Formats: sequence, structure tokens, C-alpha cells
Amino acid sequence: MSQPLPQSAGPERPESNCDGVLVAEDDPMFRKILKSWLENWGYRVIVAEDGTAAWNILQQERPPELLILDWVMPGIDGLELCRRIRERQTTPYQYILLVTAKDDAEDVVTGLEAGADDHLTKPFDRSELRARLRVGRRILTLQKGLIQAREELRFQATHDIPTGIWNRGALLDLLQREIERASRSQSPTGLLMLDLDHFKKVNDTYGHLAGDVVLREVAHRISEVVRSYDLVGRYGGEEFLVVLPDCDPDQALQSAERIRAVIAGRPVLAAGAEILVTASIGVTVTTAGSVAEKEILAIADTALYQAKSAGRNCTAAL
Ligand code: GH3
Ligand code: MG
Ligand code: MG
Ligand code: MG
Repeated sequence: MSQPLPQSAGPERPESNCDGVLVAEDDPMFRKILKSWLENWGYRVIVAEDGTAAWNILQQERPPELLILDWVMPGIDGLELCRRIRERQTTPYQYILLVTAKDDAEDVVTGLEAGADDHLTKPFDRSELRARLRVGRRILTLQKGLIQAREELRFQATHDIPTGIWNRGALLDLLQREIERASRSQSPTGLLMLDLDHFKKVNDTYGHLAGDVVLREVAHRISEVVRSYDLVGRYGGEEFLVVLPDCDPDQALQSAERIRAVIAGRPVLAAGAEILVTASIGVTVTTAGSVAEKEILAIADTALYQAKSAGRNCTAAL
């Protein structure tokens, strides 16, 4: 009985979830072969006929992360491309497979030290290329997971998770940076300190979970009525802080009034009840960055205290 032919001679199953791959190769015949193999395996192939064309493609938005670079090309060669790519230190990382007829150990070392991740000597076996590309994709997938985890950690470190707005530490950093920037550009910075009125009663009446829903909704409403470049954060339990870059006293008061009105304007639905909440807001504006961060916070706090004393559900400016 005759044995079936080895699978590699038959039709190939494409790779799953293939991203783009850049092929920089000056030999038209070899370029064509590579393109056809890669497309067969399911890759989206972008070809460059020399190093300069490849470099131009890499300047575009979201360039391929898997690169097959020929070493010897006119203009910018593969080695120089490797160096330039590594010099940029972009994220996400680009995985480089350097392809060349050079095969002595010294050349391999030169290629790897220029920034290549792997090396393949021409002429090479088709299945070896396929396997080496899989290695590259494995590294890139690992990297994606790490980047995502890092972004999540960064978000968690700077945001108040229950409400999704900046947390106290991040907002105070941003405030300090904003005051420094405003001082250089001689522009005013507004600060609003907001405290929910009789919030203890909300918890006592509807429960702590309903209170949390109210806090989330308040954060959402504040964010909706401020300008896109204003900074909204949670200062403490039921206290919020809003930094208003380039904002004069009139605009700061208007912003505070918009926030006060949108909170008091309609009840929050939680625990099957319609919960009416109001807020008191202290307003202050630094004139041309003349005040330190701690001072402006203290002034906003005093203004907030005045708004509370004036009967709550109102704004007070200092
Ligand atoms: P005032 O108008 O004087 O500000 O009265 P108040 O009741 O809001 O002030 P007080 O400082 O006495 O109470 C604040 C309440 O906010 C008490 C606390 O349980 C509640 N609180 C703080 N953080 C949270 C939170 O994360 N979730 C919930 N549900 N309640 C919180
Ligand atoms: Mg070449
Ligand atoms: Mg409070
Ligand atoms: Mg309160």
C-alpha cells in the first residue's frame, strides 16, 4: 500500500488572526515569491521594493509589526533599517526577521546587533520561514498582552475606579502641572471644590450601595457639562475637584453653576428610588499662576465652606 505524500506538499491551512507583514526586498522575483507564500498563509502583505520605500511605510500610522527585511538593498539597506527602527523605540515593538545570503557567524552577529530579532539565510526552506514568522507572532502577542496589562495598571493607578474619573493623587499632580504651565503662559486657572450636601442622609436612607450609584452619576454629570480639556477628579468620599485651565473668574463661576444645576436638576435613580441630591461648590481662580497648589486648594476649601454656610446647593467664589 502506498503512503500519502507529506502534508507540506498539499494545500496549506492559513494562520489564524494574521496581521500585516512588511516585506522589503529589492529582487523582484524573490519579492513575488515571498508575497505569494505569505498571502497563502493568510498574511496581509505590504511590499517595499527597497529600504527607502520600507522606511516610508514605517512612518505611516499603525505600520506592520512583523517585518521581513532583506539585508542587501540599494539606498537604505536592511541593516540600516534595523538600526533606525530600534533607534525610534516605538510602541508597539516591531519584530524583524533579517533575510540575507550572508551566512557566516560574524554577519549573523552584525545583523542581530543592529536590531534584528532573527536571521534567515537565502535560499531558505519555505516551512522554516513560516515557523520563524510564527515565533515572531508569538513574541508580538506576548507583547500586546503586556502593553494591555501596563495600560490597565496605569489607569488603575490614576483613576478612581468606582467613578472612572481621575483619583486624588493624579488630579493633584495634574493641578500642579497646570499651575506651572499657567504661570509660564501667564494664564489663569480655575479650581472648583464640590461637596455633596447631606450625603450621609442618602446613605442612611437608601443604603451605601445606592450612595455609590449617586457618586457615579454625579461624576458622570460633572464630566458631561465641563469642557473637554477640564480635569475632573474625586478628591475624597463625596468630594470632587475640577481643574479649569485658561479660565477667568466669570467662566469659572458659570462652570460651577452649570455643574450645580445638572446635579440638582433631576433625581438619580438608585435602589428603586428617585434620589434628589445637591452640591455646594467653592470656586477660585489663580491670577496668572501666582498661587501655589496648596494655597489654591485651601482657598477653594474656604469658598466651599462659605457655600455650605450660605445654605448649600449653591456656589461661592473667593
Ligand atoms: P454636608 O452637607 O455637611 O457635606 O453633609 P454630609 O452628610 O455630606 O457630610 P459628612 O461629611 O457628614 O458625610 C459624608 C458622607 O459621605 C459620609 C460617608 O459615609 C459618605 N461617603 C463617603 N465616601 C463614600 C462612598 O464611597 N460611598 C458612599 N456610599 N458614601 C460615601
Ligand atoms: Mg537584496
Ligand atoms: Mg465631605
Ligand atoms: Mg457632604
